[in-house]
Amino acid sequence: MSSHNNSPSDQVSFPRNYDNKILFFNRRCWKCGKISHIFYIGHPCEASSEDSFHPQVVTFVKNLKEEDIGKKLLLGEIKERYSKTAQHSYFSFGCFYCDAIFGDFYVFEEVDNWFYLDNIPKDLFVVDLPPNIIEILEKDRAKRRQEYYDSHFNEDFEDSK
Ligand SMILES: [Zn+2]
Repeated sequence: MSSHNNSPSDQVSFPRNYDNKILFFNRRCWKCGKISHIFYIGHPCEASSEDSFHPQVVTFVKNLKEEDIGKKLLLGEIKERYSKTAQHSYFSFGCFYCDAIFGDFYVFEEVDNWFYLDNIPKDLFVVDLPPNIIEILEKDRAKRRQEYYDSHFNEDFEDSK
């Protein structure tokens, strides 16, 4: 921990390490204008819909809404919605009030930008993920990395023959 000169208000600042924490943040609906919550799993590299929409994570967050800590969450359903922009259906966040789709691209682009621009919102609601779910996510990330490398290196290999 850095020991900068703490005033009481400085101490409200958020920890720098968000790895594998659930970060709930506000999203204004493009359709009805009301504020809902959506979330992102803190990851050292990048925001990923694979993490947020992982079945284990979705179940965990649903259960959270039943507990005191999650009562104030205005989380729309996580389900397949048709996207006119993408021209197909995919798992998505949606508006708590009117169910409008919150498009993947904008959601995760926004979160990436917080970290790159060091402009992390002050009103994040941070919840720890249980270790067993973190373990599952990390295995899946490793698998995706492996698939990515396999598909790319195989191409290179074919080219060099
Ligand atoms: Zn709405």
